[in-house]
Amino acid sequence: MAYVIVDTCTKDMLCVEACPVDCIHPKQDEPDAEQAPQLYIHPDECIDCGACIPVCPTNSIFVLEELPAELAHFAEKNRQYYGL
Ligand code: SF4
Ligand code: SF4
Repeated sequence: MAYVIVDTCTKDMLCVEACPVDCIHPKQDEPDAEQAPQLYIHPDECIDCGACIPVCPTNSIFVLEELPAELAHFAEKNRQYYGL
């Protein structure tokens, strides 16, 4: 299981600061931070702690199992960002 970010993400980086294992990218100082349409969670590094959920002002982070059907493809998009 892992958490998934969807395209309502505004890249305000609040979840990056909240994540204890640094599995949300791109971060501000990374080369693709500017172009990336949203942030993504590394599915194998996320420890399912839930710390990112309450800090997200746009409710853009979901537990994989609770992703609404119309947003299901974002699980793959998060994986793809990491070349998985
Ligand atoms: S807290 Fe939410 S809106 Fe902000 S960067 Fe993270 S997922 Fe995107
Ligand atoms: S659930 Fe925890 S480990 Fe996973 S992305 Fe959110 S803050 Fe990071």
